[in-house]
Amino acid sequence: SGMKRLVVVSNRLPAALKHEDGRWTVKQGAGGLVTAMAPVLRNRGGVWIGWSGAAEPDVDVEGLLSDFSAEAGYELCTVPLTRQEVDDYYYGFSNEIIWPLFHDLQSRCRFHPRYWRAYLDVNFKFAEVVARRTTSDDYLWIQDYHLMHQAFFLKSMGVKRNTGFFLHIPFPTPDIFMKLPWRWKVIQALTEYDLLGFQTMQDRRNFVRCLRRLMPETRVEGRGAAVTVRLGNRSFRLGAFPISIDYNQFSELAGREDVARKAFELKEALRHRKIILGVDRLDYTKGIPERIRSIQTLLKRYPDLKGRVNFVQIAVPSREEVGEYKDLRQEIEQLVGRVNGEFSIPGWVPVHYHYRNLPVDELVAYYAAADIALVTPLRDGMNLVAKEYCACNNSEDGVLVLSEFAGAAAQLQRNAYLVNPYDMDGIAKALHRALHWDRDERHSSMSKLRDQVRRNNIFWWVDSFLQAGIAKTLGDFPEV
Ligand code: UDP
Repeated sequence: SGMKRLVVVSNRLPAALKHEDGRWTVKQGAGGLVTAMAPVLRNRGGVWIGWSGAAEPDVDVEGLLSDFSAEAGYELCTVPLTRQEVDDYYYGFSNEIIWPLFHDLQSRCRFHPRYWRAYLDVNFKFAEVVARRTTSDDYLWIQDYHLMHQAFFLKSMGVKRNTGFFLHIPFPTPDIFMKLPWRWKVIQALTEYDLLGFQTMQDRRNFVRCLRRLMPETRVEGRGAAVTVRLGNRSFRLGAFPISIDYNQFSELAGREDVARKAFELKEALRHRKIILGVDRLDYTKGIPERIRSIQTLLKRYPDLKGRVNFVQIAVPSREEVGEYKDLRQEIEQLVGRVNGEFSIPGWVPVHYHYRNLPVDELVAYYAAADIALVTPLRDGMNLVAKEYCACNNSEDGVLVLSEFAGAAAQLQRNAYLVNPYDMDGIAKALHRALHWDRDERHSSMSKLRDQVRRNNIFWWVDSFLQAGIAKTLGDFPEV
């Protein structure tokens, strides 16, 4: 039997168009998803369909992408979007409605009907390209909340495809989900996939609760990680597939001599004080202001720590076109200024704040240098920073302080120090305790964290999902 060709569909292609020195080039993305997918796509002769990231119609996108495809060993296929579509479907519907709502932050949503219409139009446009570029022998793996309507539109065109969908962000409880004006249409569209994958069991449970609320005829069969949903004479499957990282790549990078030297230089520059590290896209779901306030609380409550710890926050610029993100940046910068103004003494500034994208070897050096990673999102689908920190901690000497509302907590709770990101006193206390953990405690927790991330790495994630999705035709559903 021939191997099914894999077709990945996502909002953005894993390569970005860049305008440099007056000409356009294509650069391969560096994320874990691309790293894991590329070999599978090469082996199966796959295609990746998505938006190129350029709203300029005059660029020869097709030509650039075909050069890239020849080198990468799999095809890239672009769905062109206009400036207006990018504004309303991507920034609007995806990032000002679904993103905040699914992270439980309904007050940040802007439910403009215009956004919803653009979302449907763009999903239809994507589905037309997908229909044209695939056959009924292919396996289609659709990624994330921008493209929830792919199976729906394919079916409405009479196009039969085997489809799987993975949601990278959380799925909210009914109380939150029911606020979406288009709740019924969204949940209905999701039921059109053959396999629905979520990050955690909790997300999957929330989805079933919403489904039951909106479609009372829902029947759920099976138990554990994988279940089947029946709606009348139709059925589809649900699973939990926690996404991960390329563990070896991070661990090896951290062990490279130049990176280890860089880590040592960072420690030296901070005069070998304890380093507490935060790394996030600058996003309101990440709890950055709350985290800075908890550092303020730490220094207030434990004055002996003055001059002995540094908090380093790396904030990666993100969605700068959206007003909420501009306001957040200002708020963070004011808070950093306030805390440093309150506590600095000659030779010591408590908070070091970087607002930029770091090259990966510098990021890894920070991970390797940090005594504590402080990962406190208010809500997060998974949080890869938490896993990257563990993979880079080859000395097994660090402590992970992790929000109980990050998807990663479901896997790492036994050996991370869990905190409530809204509880400033609680975080300060956790940090104070973690700073006093002895070498054995740190080593025992960190080595278990690393085992967990090493085993359940990004390649494991891709395999589990594809086995569940493609094995469907064989009537088989492995436990994940
Ligand atoms: N990251 C980056 N540039 C940086 C610092 C970090 O691209 O300067 C990466 C980091 O390595 C991680 C990702 O950004 O893989 C963040 O993923 P996460 O799941 O933590 O959060 P998301 O941004 O997807 O919400």
